[in-house]
Amino acid sequence: MSGSFLQTPIEYLKGVGPQKAELLKKELHIFNYGDLLTFYPFRYVDRTKFYKIKEINADLPYVQLRGKIVHTEMVGVKRSQRFVARFTDGTGTLELVWFQGAKWIGEKIKPHASNECVVFGKPALFNGKFNIPHPEIDPVSEENTVLASALQAVYNSTEKLKVRSLDTKGIARIQKTLVLQIKNNIPEILSKDIMDKFQLISREEAFKQIHLPKSPEDLRRAELRLKFDELFFIQLKLLKQKGLREKTVRGNVFSKVGDYFNNFFTKHLPFELTGAQKRVIKEIRLDMGSGKQMNRLVQGDVGSGKTLVALMNMLIALDNGFQSCLMAPTEILATQHYETISQLLKPLNVNVGLLTGSKKAKARRILHEQLQNGEMHILIGTHALLEDAVQFKNIGLVVIDEQHRFGVAQRAKMWTKNTIAPHVLIMSATPIPRTLAMTLYGDLDVSVIDEMPPGRKPIQTVHRFDENRMRVFGFMKEQIEVGRQIYVVYPLIKESEKMDFKDLMDGYESIARAFPPPYQISIVHGQMKADAKEFEMQRFVKGETQIMVATTVIEVGVNVPNASVMVIESAERFGLSQLHQLRGRVGRGAEQSYCILMTSHKLGADGKLRMETMCRTNDGFEIADVDMKLRGPGDMAGTQQSGVLDLNIADLAKDSQILHAARNMVIELLSEDPELAKTENSNIAYHFSMMGRNNTNWSRIS
Ligand code: ADP
Ligand code: MG
Repeated sequence: MSGSFLQTPIEYLKGVGPQKAELLKKELHIFNYGDLLTFYPFRYVDRTKFYKIKEINADLPYVQLRGKIVHTEMVGVKRSQRFVARFTDGTGTLELVWFQGAKWIGEKIKPHASNECVVFGKPALFNGKFNIPHPEIDPVSEENTVLASALQAVYNSTEKLKVRSLDTKGIARIQKTLVLQIKNNIPEILSKDIMDKFQLISREEAFKQIHLPKSPEDLRRAELRLKFDELFFIQLKLLKQKGLREKTVRGNVFSKVGDYFNNFFTKHLPFELTGAQKRVIKEIRLDMGSGKQMNRLVQGDVGSGKTLVALMNMLIALDNGFQSCLMAPTEILATQHYETISQLLKPLNVNVGLLTGSKKAKARRILHEQLQNGEMHILIGTHALLEDAVQFKNIGLVVIDEQHRFGVAQRAKMWTKNTIAPHVLIMSATPIPRTLAMTLYGDLDVSVIDEMPPGRKPIQTVHRFDENRMRVFGFMKEQIEVGRQIYVVYPLIKESEKMDFKDLMDGYESIARAFPPPYQISIVHGQMKADAKEFEMQRFVKGETQIMVATTVIEVGVNVPNASVMVIESAERFGLSQLHQLRGRVGRGAEQSYCILMTSHKLGADGKLRMETMCRTNDGFEIADVDMKLRGPGDMAGTQQSGVLDLNIADLAKDSQILHAARNMVIELLSEDPELAKTENSNIAYHFSMMGRNNTNWSRIS
């Protein structure tokens, strides 16, 4: 039966003995033919092209040269011993160097003034000259000059595999052996309809062409097919899970909007809601009234007013007799939410509680009681909310702020707190690119607050070099003169790092010199005790200090609408999303606000692009897109623990079109054939049933 070809144990492949098989399993998790075929090349090199030595420059990744070895010698002793071969092609000479296995290589390679050879490797610059460390080297032969496949696949390998001659070339060799055995034995996993619709080649053809492409065009088609497969089945899984959950998980029905909500809305709301806030509140309200359990992500830039959206929905919960909670990632943030919300609800007779790690045992016990007997309506806190002792009478809505800081396991815990699962609202201040949202949160409903409260002037962002600091200080003085406050942030990436700490302290001293009394300065960093931090923070919040010198502690922390300038020191050391988050600390009041990015002249291409992007736009989604292109999806907030990004071939930063197509196709497919029961979808159904049976269910968020 055709399926068994892919399941064939890897040791059955010619050229893979028991020892190599063991290594492939251990090092690359390749157990069978299917695993090997889906171990895709990470790039290709054009082996028809030969470079000349004089053409070599630092931008070339791999080069293929043709020439002669004219001299060899063993250099150095013991550990530092290396084998050096001088190689020439008539246009110049360079050295081929072996650090490992020098002795063994030295016995194999002799200077042959007459025999030509082909050398392939990555040039490196050493002492102002190019050499090639650990090149591949072959005698000139038919095979090397007239290669069947112009594009040669390059595979990842490991040190242990290389020792067993499974370097990239060795892996290419066994891939080729395997590909040559492909003949009507790779089952199709898509329907004919879908293949026709997107003009996809067969899976079988794709496997052949991805490893041994005949032309760039064939390679492109193979990639398209395999990327589509990957994204299609991820979306199928997400959307099936969503459908299943909606069908089987009961949700509390919040049938009405009552007095709490109406009172607050008509009498106590301090401002007019933005159109986006109204729309999102409505989306959430409809969801919570539907009888299904809500799992919704609200994305909105810093300052877009998410807290209020959450609050209004907690009031709806209360109108329907349910408690709710709001979970924040830090104690500072939880406290701030608590203060804002209890202030806003003061006229309403709503009981709001705060639970953080620092709550004393006695107060805690009282709170636990109030939660259990239903006296406490709204609980705000940190992950302390997840402790077993925290039991609600009837929790109806869980709001999670800045969700990426919570692990999946923590979120799953909320589920167990009630028999009927509460509605879950996740608020993310990190706008993420749509492709990422569709994959990370593909089974969630998503609302976007894409409008800022009125009266805000867009923050003006500029980039200044360190030597302009005096002028920046001058500007800061002008702003303080007109009553504003200022943040100066230093990168203390690792709070323990001495250098960073010294930078912060040096910076603080120079600011203190430039701003002597009556100016007052707060300083906050990670090595301070919590109460000292809190004290300094409060001085700034109350306006007693004009400047807050801080590390990224303030990233998600304070809300001081009077602060109008954000100076970010060594801005090149921050990622884009972090810069954007920091900038969001200002621009919260009605005044014009400014963000000043300070860097030295030593800026790489990436750094420059980050500064330019920040100066060009305030749009968090646009920034997120650039960020993902720069860093790749794997480094984006929230993706690490998700497991979603173990993508084998697709790339969320580049393949958004394929992703959209695949997702829309899945939606169409499931609307026509939700159980995948139709004959024409049997390939899909079968593959889906075989997929990732040991995968954890990472899509379940509550
Ligand atoms: P986010 O959590 O989305 O970053 P917040 O909810 O903290 O934003 O709101 C930022 C600030 O904007 C707060 O001071 C809040 O009171 C204010 N705000 C929220 N909605 C509005 C609105 N519709 N009009 C005016 N100000 C608003
Ligand atoms: Mg917020």
